[in-house]
Amino acid sequence: MHLESYRCVLCVEDVDGDILHLLFQCQFSQACWIYLGIEWDTSIDHQLMFLRAREKFGSVIFREIIILAMWALWTHRNSIIFDGMPVLLYLEA
Ligand SMILES: [Zn+2]
Repeated sequence: MHLESYRCVLCVEDVDGDILHLLFQCQFSQACWIYLGIEWDTSIDHQLMFLRAREKFGSVIFREIIILAMWALWTHRNSIIFDGMPVLLYLEA
């Protein structure tokens, strides 16, 4: 799909909004993860990053929470780009 711009619409960083940025590196998504109590160490291999985050989170519903959060981040991004919705304010933990 062609878009006029591929910059992230969720933050003020001047970066392309690729999937890694959207889900883990974006200031907006990081605020969401902190709010949910999930810590990602993006400096390590992705599989290990998921395993460590799950261990630290310590709940059997880790997978369900991250799937829903990633879906919410993706659909929020799309609603801004395609429906003109405003960016939600950052969450305060
Ligand atoms: Zn961003």
